[in-house]
Amino acid sequence: MSSRTELTFCRICEATCGLKATIEGDRVVAVEPDEDHVASKGYSCIKGLRYHEIHHSPDRLRVPLKRVGAGFEEISWEQALAEIGAKVRQLVKGNGGDSVSAYLGNPISFSLLPPILTSGFLQGLGSRNLFQTGSQDCNNKFAAAQRVYGFPFIQPFADVDRTQCLIIIGSNPAVSRSSFMQLPNPIRRLRAIEERGGKVFLVNPRRTETAKQLGTQVFIRPDTDVYFLLSFLHEVLSRDVIDHVHVNRYMKGLDPLRKVAELWTPERTAEVTGIPAQTLRAMVDAYLEADGAALFLSTGVNQGSQGTLAFWIQEAINAISGNLDRLGGTIVGHGYIKDFPKHARKGGHTMRKDRSRIGQLPSVADTFPAGLMADEILTPGKGQVRALFCVSGNPLLTVPNSNGRLEEALKALELLVVIDIFRNETANHAHYILPGSSAFQRADLPFVFQSLMGAQAVPYVQFTDALLPLEDEQRDETLILLQLARACGSTLFGSRVANGFFGTWMGLRKLPLLGSRLGFTPERFLGLMARAFRLGSLRSLRKEPHGRLLEPIKGRDFLGERVVTEDGLVDLAPEEFVVAAGALESAFESERSRRDKLKLISKREQHSHNSWMHNFPRFVAGKRSTNYVYMNPQDASKVGVESGAIVEVRSNAASVRLPVQVTDEMMVGAVALPHGWGHQAADGLSVASKTTGVNVNLLAADGPEELEYFSGMAKLNGIWVEVTPAE
Ligand code: SF4
Repeated sequence: MSSRTELTFCRICEATCGLKATIEGDRVVAVEPDEDHVASKGYSCIKGLRYHEIHHSPDRLRVPLKRVGAGFEEISWEQALAEIGAKVRQLVKGNGGDSVSAYLGNPISFSLLPPILTSGFLQGLGSRNLFQTGSQDCNNKFAAAQRVYGFPFIQPFADVDRTQCLIIIGSNPAVSRSSFMQLPNPIRRLRAIEERGGKVFLVNPRRTETAKQLGTQVFIRPDTDVYFLLSFLHEVLSRDVIDHVHVNRYMKGLDPLRKVAELWTPERTAEVTGIPAQTLRAMVDAYLEADGAALFLSTGVNQGSQGTLAFWIQEAINAISGNLDRLGGTIVGHGYIKDFPKHARKGGHTMRKDRSRIGQLPSVADTFPAGLMADEILTPGKGQVRALFCVSGNPLLTVPNSNGRLEEALKALELLVVIDIFRNETANHAHYILPGSSAFQRADLPFVFQSLMGAQAVPYVQFTDALLPLEDEQRDETLILLQLARACGSTLFGSRVANGFFGTWMGLRKLPLLGSRLGFTPERFLGLMARAFRLGSLRSLRKEPHGRLLEPIKGRDFLGERVVTEDGLVDLAPEEFVVAAGALESAFESERSRRDKLKLISKREQHSHNSWMHNFPRFVAGKRSTNYVYMNPQDASKVGVESGAIVEVRSNAASVRLPVQVTDEMMVGAVALPHGWGHQAADGLSVASKTTGVNVNLLAADGPEELEYFSGMAKLNGIWVEVTPAE
């Protein structure tokens, strides 16, 4: 059979690496890195190179399914849409818009339209109840940025290719390729810092795959990052290296910030962080002496109990040291949409100020914390959630206490609709399962982080056509959401104009005056978006299949120009944060009194990303068919176990049993457990369901008191645990 080669890009993680797919008929038979891609330049990881195996899995959903008794029956799209629509209309009429909710998962969030339309669908029903994966991995950054810079999606990122000192906290780019910073080929680029005479520090409770290859490892006790950062700030301020003219012109709040840092000497915080004072001072020296430096924290810190405060302190340090908005320091990308933060803020987009019905937690970027889903479903009263649309997500595995109260809650729903490419754990409880598209079946512009935040050290744009057709009854998520909106009586975004536009575009309404119908093509819409973003026509983008470089980042164009707080100044000391920092004393004392107890961190694995990856046989073969508890030899000896022994890990929320791996990559007092496992009940995942790993998120608690106050982030790192040999 003759074959052809198509260029595209990966949509598994933020690196969005360029890929070259070899296609025979309707099958992708091989995927290679795109050597000529303008940004990834021949880099990609094993997950992108094996994505075709996920796409062609025999477990892919092909037709709509309806729950009947204990099983599922195939139904037509017409029946599915009609029945779902009737139920939603009834719920909204009887209980109000908030009775309908949605959960937006990670895989689809890398595509342009489905996340926007999921939000528009709910808005059209009058519902505020959108839950998203952000409250498991990053909402603290949005919550802090909104107060410090005036808009959640203003996210400065480290200028890795020019910096002379990079301090990475709670991140393992060798495996994650970083987040909020597009970083294909992370090891080469981090090594280059050392090759040009700079320094890289990796602050982490575990010697990660990154730290094994470069940089200086600094062990930190889990979930004590905020104290480390407070001492770092204390030291920066005590050396009087601040450019006061610069700070006075572009920032406010230096005095209250000084007060916040006053008591947190490195000697004091060393008691809980485990980082000796002289080590911290040496890091501050390196940071201040470098010609361009950056502190960059990520998921490990985000998932702790003080992620918002930690991120705020980090940003304040980068700002007052003169490293914010300079090449080699941290830079703020432009994204595709010129002045997006200014316009979005003006229109109130992603700036909602409401609070959740349960727990009164704030919405962040117009979403509520997923850790509240169980309560919102199970607690009677006005606004109780009775229906959930799960779009390309698997909350039953990914939110805290997932197999506990959330499972009970999903069973209590009057309507659960899952849109996915597989029948996963969550789908097992669905009333309807709708077959969506894989990334190879979708045209796309790399959008989410690039367009809004411009989180690219190398700004570029690339368009991909769908490589393969949809099969059987599979549909593109964009079309599914538009059809659901119509069936459910949702006026998209609560706007008749938007509703009319989308209705006409998808061929549901005749064109005004002309009387003809447009057909639904995502490409057509992406073409409109590309023109609106001034990226050119699709024809021109198609002529540059390796991507087109955009204007390089120059730096020095954010402060005084693109900060969108009321007064245009960076707020170094938002009042609520200052008050919360003042209350850290009791948390610090609690931490100090439990220094001898074990704390759990989660860990991402090279061959794993979300539940789908565990359904590829080679990724879970042999020893990889389970996750392990990783422990330092000293801790293992105290517990009385060796590698291979089964241990019980117990938190306040639950307990799990797993084999242990004893390794000195863990610091004493910290244990690690990879996430994304626990598929035994997912009989729709024929490979994953045979694996024996357990879900680490079981050990995390849900409910309003357990979530971080400012962002509703689930505490998935730094969980107090006991480990004992299993009976
Ligand atoms: S690093 Fe791997 S998973 Fe991430 S975009 Fe590149 S190929 Fe895909």
